[in-house]
Amino acid sequence: MERINLIQHGELQKTTLIPGSKINGADLKDLFELSKEICQTNIYCGLAMNQIPLELIKQRSGYQSHCRIIFLRPEIYGGGESSVLEDTLIINPRIKVKNRETYLGFEGCGSVDFDQTLMLVRRPTDFKLSGLFYMSGMGLPKYEEVESKNLEYFNASQHEIDHLNGYTALNFPEKLVNPLEESEFIVDIEQLRQILEDGGGKSLYVYANDRLEKIPYQDIVRR
Ligand SMILES: [Zn+2]
Repeated sequence: MERINLIQHGELQKTTLIPGSKINGADLKDLFELSKEICQTNIYCGLAMNQIPLELIKQRSGYQSHCRIIFLRPEIYGGGESSVLEDTLIINPRIKVKNRETYLGFEGCGSVDFDQTLMLVRRPTDFKLSGLFYMSGMGLPKYEEVESKNLEYFNASQHEIDHLNGYTALNFPEKLVNPLEESEFIVDIEQLRQILEDGGGKSLYVYANDRLEKIPYQDIVRR
C-alpha cells in the first residue's frame, strides 16, 4: 500500500454513535484490515476512522459514511502491562476520567501537518476506556472496560477519540503546552532538540500570546 494522506485538522467530521443493529463482523473485518495497512505503512500507533478519506472507506468496506470507531496498535509500544495486547478496533469508544491527575507527552498526528509537527499535550493519567472491542478473528465485537494501566497505549485512545469528535490537539489551547515555558515540564533546548530529532526533525506547535505558532526545528536549535 502507498502512504495514505489522512484528512487534516479543520476538516475532520464529527461522528455519531453507531447503533447496535448496524454493527456486523464482515464490515469490521474490512475496516480492521484497512486500518492495519494504513498504520503499518504510515507508522502510526492509532487511527480514527474519520481520518481516512471517505472514498477509500467506501472502496474497502461496507461503510458508506465515517463511523465512530478507532484503531489501536499496542505492539508499537511493546504491550507493557496493558491487558489488551493485540491490534484492536474499538466501536463507540468512551473515556471516563477518574481523577484530576494529568501528565504531559509529545504527540505526532497524521491529521496535523501529515505527522510532520509535534505537540506537547496534557492529558488525564487515570481513566477507564470502554466500548465494543474487535480483534482479528472475532465474529462480532465484545464490550470491554479497560483501566489506563499502560499509559502510552491508552494515551493514543484519548488522542483518537478527540478525532471522532472532530478535533485535534490544536483545538485545545489549554491542553497544548509550550515545553519552553511550562515549569512543570523542565526541558532545555538540547533535550527538546533531541526529542524533535528523534521524531524525524519535526517542528513544534505551541500557543504563544493566545495564538497558535509553529516553531521550525532550526529555530529551536538557534534560541
Ligand atoms: Zn491523530
